[in-house]
Amino acid sequence: MTQEPDPEGPAPLKSHGRISIRATLRPRELVTDTPDLAGAWVAQVITLVPQAFPGVLGESLTGKALAEGRWALRTIDLREFGEGKHRNVDDTPAGGGAGMVLRPDVLGHALDAAAEGARGRWPVIYLSPRGAPLTQAMARRLAAADGVTLLCGRFEGVDERVLEAYDIEEVSLGDFVLTGGEIAAMALIDATVRLLPGVLGNAASTEEESFSEGLLEHPQYTRPAEWRGRAIPKVLQSGNHGNIAAWRRARSEAITRERRPDLWQAHQADKGKPQD
Ligand code: SAH
Repeated sequence: MTQEPDPEGPAPLKSHGRISIRATLRPRELVTDTPDLAGAWVAQVITLVPQAFPGVLGESLTGKALAEGRWALRTIDLREFGEGKHRNVDDTPAGGGAGMVLRPDVLGHALDAAAEGARGRWPVIYLSPRGAPLTQAMARRLAAADGVTLLCGRFEGVDERVLEAYDIEEVSLGDFVLTGGEIAAMALIDATVRLLPGVLGNAASTEEESFSEGLLEHPQYTRPAEWRGRAIPKVLQSGNHGNIAAWRRARSEAITRERRPDLWQAHQADKGKPQD
């Protein structure tokens, strides 16, 4: 490219390619020794705080899987798409009111850059308190896709027209308000990545844990057999696998019934229906 971008004007499209390449440098470096990366699940995150990534996702099992190329992370710095000398990304809400709203033109350019990196089944999600609650079923659906683009809001959120124009799904971490979408995006990525093949050492562990059958998990214990006068339930030390499974199932059902009547009802309603 010969032409320099005009710092006062909108950044030309070509420069987005350069910017997006720079944005991927860190994750690419992490996976240089993994030639089988082609086809790996990819999370693209549009954010004003790209330096927050991979954060905790770079640790432990998700971090090991990232280094092994079982998934890849590409941050897209929204600021790079800002307008003018100050790379402006927000403006006051139409109709008045507190705070600032992320501009549709700026978001549109960032979403276009993300679309260039997408392939196959690739949902675009805006993390938002108005969204559908993040669930295990959603994580399973996302793990079956080729990747996902996550739009993290800041301030009062994003211009509504962007959500319509790009057919963006809204997903919420819960009924509370965060200052930005990044923590919610990390939660979504973590919940999804651990379902990808080879990320957890023991594949069975995702089949038996909370929500896998619409139930919460049974209690877990480990050595020592007695701690501060409390013993591990005898059945777990019996070696009788049938009894252990029955005990765990009963505890799992009781805990779900007590703590989450909503889940219990859904579980009862699902019984007898064909499994997906
Ligand atoms: N004015 C908005 C809240 C904005 S909070 C409202 O009342 O709905 C700023 C950003 O944080 C949002 O754009 C969103 O991306 C993120 N965020 C806040 N709470 C969230 C939640 N519960 N789940 C997911 N993202 C959230």
